[in-house]
Amino acid sequence: MPRTPSLTRQSSCACGRVQCRAIGAPIVSLVCYCDDCQEGARNIEALPNAASFRDDDGGTPLLTYRDDRFECSSGEELLVGYKLKESAPTHRMVASCCNSAMFLKYAPGFWVSAYRARFEGDDLPPIEMRDQIEHRRADTPLPSDAPCYRVSQ
Ligand SMILES: [Zn+2]
Repeated sequence: MPRTPSLTRQSSCACGRVQCRAIGAPIVSLVCYCDDCQEGARNIEALPNAASFRDDDGGTPLLTYRDDRFECSSGEELLVGYKLKESAPTHRMVASCCNSAMFLKYAPGFWVSAYRARFEGDDLPPIEMRDQIEHRRADTPLPSDAPCYRVSQ
């Protein structure tokens, strides 16, 4: 096996107290339009001083990593999990210091989806797909940079 240095990306909350680290390439880089992502984002964006982390058309860009390739490297105690309802399997983790949405964790899954907006650098992976576009509400044309998928074809 050729040894390539593994790329580490850093995501940071707006004030810098919460830092997360992602190792290697994400499993997928996508934009999600599902109802839950939209509602979850609206709830978080309504918190005091929360920065928007969605695209202008309401999509949520995410970089998805395997659990063992993503960790909170500082300020973990500041993370607060938001759920849409008590029984929901997904927590949206927000840095409570500045109400920055950091990542979401779907409990049964082996992956973590990190909010792309919180990553530094201009060399982030390109968008590979747009998902659940039947829930997209924007009037603007769909971007044509990546394939689009619906839940039911
Ligand atoms: Zn912060």
